Amino acid sequence: MKKSESYNNVLVASALMLILLSCGIRAQTPTADEVISRIKDNLTCDWSEETVDTYKGGNGDMKVTGIATTFLANMDVLKSAKEKGLNLIITHEPTFYDHRDNTDRYGDDPIVKAKQQYIKDNNLIVWRFHDHWHRTSPDGIYKGMTAKLEFDQYSRDGSQIYYDLPTMTLKDLGLKLEKQFHQSTIRVVGDLDMEVSQVALVLGAAGANRQISSLQHDDVEVVIVGEVPEWETVEYIRDATSLGHKKALIMLGHANSEEAGMQYCAEWLKTFIQDIPIEFIPAGDPFWSPN
Ligand SMILES: [Zn+2]
Repeated sequence: MKKSESYNNVLVASALMLILLSCGIRAQTPTADEVISRIKDNLTCDWSEETVDTYKGGNGDMKVTGIATTFLANMDVLKSAKEKGLNLIITHEPTFYDHRDNTDRYGDDPIVKAKQQYIKDNNLIVWRFHDHWHRTSPDGIYKGMTAKLEFDQYSRDGSQIYYDLPTMTLKDLGLKLEKQFHQSTIRVVGDLDMEVSQVALVLGAAGANRQISSLQHDDVEVVIVGEVPEWETVEYIRDATSLGHKKALIMLGHANSEEAGMQYCAEWLKTFIQDIPIEFIPAGDPFWSPN
């Protein structure tokens, strides 16, 4: 066989291989419902029909070209997912500024309408993964976050909530967290010179009840949270400090306090979804400080 002939044969074989491969990939392209069903199969908890984990845009029959996981499907995340060709966005928090994504409360709001239109025009599917990502064992958000915080080795009896850290001042703990979150707008309430080691993690917006009840334990000095209305746990700590109790609060901000859990979600999905690309897209901390 001449050299040019054998080269031609290689070209033909490669082209055939590519055609076969692309047919194979196309045949396997799952629908959103198929992806969600694989997710359900890999959770340790039962699926509850009473849930916010539903489609917020697009529908279950649409083909999935790739998955983006994120803390919150904001416009920047949607644009980035579209650019990357990832049309299923798995978001931990709501898309439309309401826990149930009920858009009726906003009437004809131009921001809501433009976001809905963008999702539709670009054939995006937005699905929320909140309740069951927390309910599965281990809680996926906590698993990602404690790895980022490097808290795992300090867990109290394997708990995802309680930790015995090396003793340091409250100020140093705040500075350490600020560094870990790239100088984010972390806020601290309590006596900055107080030595602390016993910490409870109450991530996200779990509410003042859960935050304060964790502080009622004698062996908890600091609660690290995502967010809370400023007149609740914040003022509880201010009074506790004034009354001589050794209690403190660190507010990371909701996005900071859960985002790494959705980064871990992408890794988790890759363990049982291998036929489409999966990527984490950070939503980031929305706050900035003028200094
Ligand atoms: Zn959460």
